[in-house]
Amino acid sequence: MQALTNRAKEVDRRQMTFLESIYLWNIFKGMIVTFKHLFKKRPTIQYPEQQRTFSPVFRGLHVLNRDEEGRERCTACGLCAVACPAEAITMEAAERLPGEENLYREEKYAARYEINMLRCIFCGLCEEACPKDAIYLSETFAPANYNRRGFVYGKQDLLIPNPKTEAPELAKAKGIH
Ligand code: SF4
Ligand code: SF4
Repeated sequence: MQALTNRAKEVDRRQMTFLESIYLWNIFKGMIVTFKHLFKKRPTIQYPEQQRTFSPVFRGLHVLNRDEEGRERCTACGLCAVACPAEAITMEAAERLPGEENLYREEKYAARYEINMLRCIFCGLCEEACPKDAIYLSETFAPANYNRRGFVYGKQDLLIPNPKTEAPELAKAKGIH
C-alpha cells in the first residue's frame, strides 16, 4: 500500500539485549536529553509578568469604535454578523431618538451587541465587512475566565472609551501612559 506520508517507521521487533532489558541504558539516554535542555534558552514566557511581542498582523479582542466626537459608529447593519463564519456575533438594532445625536452617529444603532469569544476564531472578517469602521480587532486578548458566560462580551465590554468623557481610560486602552 502506498504511504501517505514519509513519517511511517518500521517497528523494531528484534530480541532485546541484556543491557536493553534492564532499561538503564535507555534511562541514561533519556537523562542526557533532559540534561542538554538545562543549557538551552528557555522558550517559556513568564506571563503575565513577561509579555511576548505580537506579530504586526496579530488579531486580538474586538473593539467597538467611536468617532472623534465620542458617538458610537455602529449602525447595526448586521454585515459583520453575516460575514462571521463562526456565527459569533448577535445584535439588536434600535432607532436613534431625537436628542441622541451626540450618542449615536447614524439613525440606527446597536441596542445590544454581543460577541461569543468561545466561538470566535479571530479571523478578522467582521472588521473587513464593516462599512462604518465600527469594529476592529485590537492587540489584546480575552482574559481567562471561570465560566462560559464570561466569554460572551457585550457592548459595554467592547466599546472603546469615549474620547470626550473618558480620555484617561482611552489613553490606557490605546497603551499611551
Ligand atoms: S473575528 Fe471572525 S470569527 Fe471572530 S467575530 Fe469576527 S468574523 Fe466572527
Ligand atoms: S460593527 Fe459594522 S458591520 Fe457590524 S453591525 Fe456595526 S456597522 Fe454593521
